[in-house]
Amino acid sequence: MDASDELRSLEATGIYRLAGSPAAFVDPVRLLGESYRRFRLVPSAYYSRSFGPSRQGGEGTAPSPDRKKRKRKRQPKPRELNAVERIAEARHQEARPLLIRAHNSLLETKDLLEFLPGMIKGDECLPNVETSSENNFVELGASWRAPFYEMTICFQKPLGQVKAGTCNVQKRSSPLFNRIVSVEENDEAEGEFQSRLYILPKGSCFMMTDFTHVRDLIPDNPNIGYNLIVIDPPWENGCVRQKEVYPTLPNRNLLYLPVQELAHPAGALLVLWITNREKLRRFVEEELLPSWGVKDPTEFYWLKVKSDGSLIGDLDLFHHRPYECLLLGYINNREAESGSKFKVLQGSQVIMSVPGAHSRKPPLQKILSEYIPGPKPPRCIELFARELGSGWTSWGNEPLHFQDSMYFSKK
Ligand code: SAM
Repeated sequence: MDASDELRSLEATGIYRLAGSPAAFVDPVRLLGESYRRFRLVPSAYYSRSFGPSRQGGEGTAPSPDRKKRKRKRQPKPRELNAVERIAEARHQEARPLLIRAHNSLLETKDLLEFLPGMIKGDECLPNVETSSENNFVELGASWRAPFYEMTICFQKPLGQVKAGTCNVQKRSSPLFNRIVSVEENDEAEGEFQSRLYILPKGSCFMMTDFTHVRDLIPDNPNIGYNLIVIDPPWENGCVRQKEVYPTLPNRNLLYLPVQELAHPAGALLVLWITNREKLRRFVEEELLPSWGVKDPTEFYWLKVKSDGSLIGDLDLFHHRPYECLLLGYINNREAESGSKFKVLQGSQVIMSVPGAHSRKPPLQKILSEYIPGPKPPRCIELFARELGSGWTSWGNEPLHFQDSMYFSKK
């Protein structure tokens, strides 16, 4: 496949595989867009940080000379790394050659670099992604009123069921919190709640609850379960606390996630997003993954780039790496033993993309599809989700966050 075939592939599938390294560039807008028939995600709303004032990932106005001066003053003196930091640094040095190789492959891919600025801008003008008037599901779900909140779900009747002269829209009400809500397979639906509209992808499912209700996700029938389990926990982390983006959970609470009970008996691929903190890494490798029955995880990296292809920050900056890690491993991997049809993960890979909102991760199902065990299409679940997808169950205390209609336009 030559470079322009790959560009066509990016336009059609959202994935551009880079020659010469185990790396791919992805466009989350195209990948997520596959869940919709009547709506499209607005690129400039997804990539809004690329247009805002200068901050991590943003490419807006340069800081004023004044701010630059103040910033320079506050630079802490370099100090010697302590023992734990030295382990983290060694880990970074191990990953570095692969990350550089992946990034160089991107920089050598001229057709992709030319395509990127237009890709993140899209055709629509930049919508006002006005967060202050959004519903705060975390607060609403914690209030005493939570059991009484309902969403009105509007969906279009299949053509064969519409009688001449009648309306083709059907409505039903559903409790919004602490229940599994499912959307029909044939078409997306629109959910109305407190004067806002949410776009619900076809064949998606969500449960909006606090951690204390997470066991309600366990399927009644032990013979069904999930083949892909993606977990992006609200790790305790100074940056999230400072920015008050979302509440965090004590790391040890994650030992109570019912991961084994959610996994399909024919096998599941588990993906866990982690931060670059060494202490967390040790807890995950020594306690958390073993408690879920995951052995010998493979490490992938998400390398974040700007729309000109440059990294969002210095690769070697100790506390602000321009990449995040994800650990992948199998649960109940019986298919691998019996030599059946999926590729077992081997070796690290790099996924590159232009980041969206704070902490929003790129969608993974398509890029991982060949590594997922069990029946096809796979049953997928995301724990601590902030968005929905076709064929996915999304759980967390705000899985509708990015379904707000301000992120979409009508086709
Ligand atoms: N993967 C998501 C994305 O790409 O947008 C980001 C997930 S973010 C790291 C963690 C999520 O967990 C946040 O939405 C947060 O509100 C949610 N969360 C925090 N505490 C929770 C709790 N006690 N129960 C359920 N969800 C919780």
